[in-house]
Amino acid sequence: MSATRAEATAEKRLVGVHAGGEPHWVGDGFPVRSLFSFGAQGGAATSPFLLLDYGGPVEIAPSETVRGVGEHPHKGFETVTVVYRGELAHRDSSGGEGVIGPGDVQWMTAASGVVHEEMYSREFTRRGGTLEFLQLWVNLPARDKSAPAGYQTLLRADIPTVALDGVGASARVIAGELAGVRGPARTFTPVNLWDLRLPAGSRVTLPVSKGHNAILVLTNGQVRLGEGKPEALRGPSSAIFSPEGGAVTVEATEDASLLLLSGEPIDEPIAAYGPFVMNTKEEITEALTEYRTGRMGRLN
Ligand code: MN
Repeated sequence: MSATRAEATAEKRLVGVHAGGEPHWVGDGFPVRSLFSFGAQGGAATSPFLLLDYGGPVEIAPSETVRGVGEHPHKGFETVTVVYRGELAHRDSSGGEGVIGPGDVQWMTAASGVVHEEMYSREFTRRGGTLEFLQLWVNLPARDKSAPAGYQTLLRADIPTVALDGVGASARVIAGELAGVRGPARTFTPVNLWDLRLPAGSRVTLPVSKGHNAILVLTNGQVRLGEGKPEALRGPSSAIFSPEGGAVTVEATEDASLLLLSGEPIDEPIAAYGPFVMNTKEEITEALTEYRTGRMGRLN
C-alpha cells in the first residue's frame, strides 16, 4: 500500500475545527461530547454525516443494574456505533440484536423507522471498567428513507487493517475503500469510514475523493493538519474539510487515534426533530404519529 501517490494531489482545505465541549448524559449510561453536528456546523459542510457523539472515557463501577438508553425511535438515517473500550448491547424492533466490544462496530439502518435500546452488556455491567465509544449518524437520501430497517454487526475480526506510510501507522477500513482494501459495511451512498492509529512522529497523506466532504475526528492525542502552516489539533475534537481537493495530510505529534469520515454529500433539505431526520416538516409530523401509534414497532 502506498499513500504517497496522493501527494501530488491538492490537499482539501480545512474549513473549521471544533473542540469537544463538556460531556452531557444520554440516558443514564452515556456521558458524550458532540464533536460536530449538522445543527452547529450546517448540514451542507458535513453531509452525508449528521453528527458524531464521543462517549467517555469513563470508569464504570461494577453493578447489578444495567444502564444505558431505553426504548426510543429513529427514522430517516443510520446510526453507527464504534466501541473502543467496554461492551454495549443493542436490541431493536426489526429483530436486530447484538453485543459489541473493543474494535467492533454496529451499523443500524433506521430508514423507514425502528425502535431500539442501547445498553451496557450484562457482562460489562457486572464487571465494570472503562467505557469509550462513539456514535455517528449517517443521513440517507430521500429515496432510501423508506427502506426497511436493517442491522449489521461488524466484528473486529471482519474489519481489515491497512498499513500506512509512516512508521507503524495503520487504518482499519470499516466502510468504503483504502488502497484497494474494502471495508465490510454496506452503505446506501458512497461513504468511507477509516479508524486510524498514528504513532507519535508518523505522517500520512490519505487519498479522499474530490467532491466528497471529509471530517477528521480526533478522539485521543495530538496532530498537525495540512502542509505549509499546519493547524494543531488536540483530542477530542474534529476538523472539517472542503469537498474540493483530493488528499488530507495528518502528522501525529503524540500517539493519536482518529476516524476519517468522507462521503458524497446528499444535496437535499434536512428537516430534523430529535431522533427523526427527514426532508420536510410534514414527514416529521408523520414520523411522530407513526411512533406514537406503534407503527414504528415495539421492543418485545
Ligand atoms: Mn438510538
